[in-house]
Amino acid sequence: MTRSNYMKKKSAALTLLGSVALIISIAASANVVEAKPGAASHEPDISHPKGTSPWPKYGERPDTDTPEVKAWVKSIDWSKVPKLPIRKTKSLGDPPECPKNDAPKSDCWWTCTGCYAPDDVIECPNKHDWGLTFDDGPQPGVTEDLLDLLQEKNVTATFFVTGMKSTKGHWLLNETLARGHHLASHTWSHSGLTTLTNEQIVGELMWTQKYVFDHTGYKVKYFRPPYGDVDNRVREIARQLGFKTVIWTKEWDTQDWQLEENTITPKKIEGIFSDDLKKLPTRTNGVITLQHDSDTKMVSMARTLLDMGMKEGMKPMNIAQCLNDKVGYNEVPTKAQKPTTVKNKNDKKPVTPATNAEQPIVKTDAEPSKANANNADNVDNADKDKESQSDSETITKQETSGSTPSTSYSVGLYAAGWTLAAIAASIAF
Ligand SMILES: [Zn+2]
Repeated sequence: MTRSNYMKKKSAALTLLGSVALIISIAASANVVEAKPGAASHEPDISHPKGTSPWPKYGERPDTDTPEVKAWVKSIDWSKVPKLPIRKTKSLGDPPECPKNDAPKSDCWWTCTGCYAPDDVIECPNKHDWGLTFDDGPQPGVTEDLLDLLQEKNVTATFFVTGMKSTKGHWLLNETLARGHHLASHTWSHSGLTTLTNEQIVGELMWTQKYVFDHTGYKVKYFRPPYGDVDNRVREIARQLGFKTVIWTKEWDTQDWQLEENTITPKKIEGIFSDDLKKLPTRTNGVITLQHDSDTKMVSMARTLLDMGMKEGMKPMNIAQCLNDKVGYNEVPTKAQKPTTVKNKNDKKPVTPATNAEQPIVKTDAEPSKANANNADNVDNADKDKESQSDSETITKQETSGSTPSTSYSVGLYAAGWTLAAIAASIAF
């Protein structure tokens, strides 16, 4: 074969390859369009005008004047919900401002008094267990790298996702599950919940749960209030909707959220974590740390902290694992429907590209200024949930025997693409 013919054949093969890739890409994009809300849900089947998005808008608190929110609100026994004041905030979406005089102890307002309720999850019951949690994702371009890091370290984590971020990276929900991790809720719009009305709180929790459920088949059970902002009003609403409140272990906020704002250096974070690690021998229980996956700097920080903690004998795991909750959700799909993944980093299935739409700044959680209040008396051990244990496989186990129809379709297209590519290559070479 002359070099000229070789180049022509190579060029033709590459063109074929490109066409195949394009077809697959288009097909796959069509495949991962928004799941139809209500399709897989047990919620009322409420149709929406054609062409309108049924989901709350990105960056906005869900509208409470909708049939969905009204139905969820109706399901709550409001006589059991404490009538506490809606907390003041500089602007909606920010954490609340703490009053000059402490709020009544009976409010058990964590943000401003550091109070925990007996059923707040704040630590892992077993010494050395490390509840690894990442908030504020999914973030395309960041979450994937974190998933690769955790796979490399062979550990799983709980991802507290926001509903609005999920709308920009919904494929990452299934990818996170397929890599053996645990999904939980961080509300829809990342607002301080104590600053919202009862109906708004319901909307924040339920729309996020519904979004994750309709896209994955998993109904989340655990939720972390943004900024840790929770009081007994928020807790009771969450309880009645079937959620368990997760905060984090006092002083184990890694402060990685500040990396995004360049108000802290990685060295400083290492120092904080190193000081925490020195206290490990005196602890009788394990810890839950607070980390984030909204900025790429947080991923390299996670690598450093994982290495530091594991060197000291800490055992990273997700929250369901740390609580010995065998299911970890209020509802799970059947085994055959669980998502699968392509494990090799360079072998990813096609995904819908992230849009460049506006990305409002999402403020991250921080230890409250008064959270070091004397709350030890209110602290109970993390609630060990046994009520929903079943014979179901633990969610930490990598599932490879089945897939959701959409995932298998993507993987199938992907495999077909590479088969055609191989044929094209054999023609050329
Ligand atoms: Zn957050």
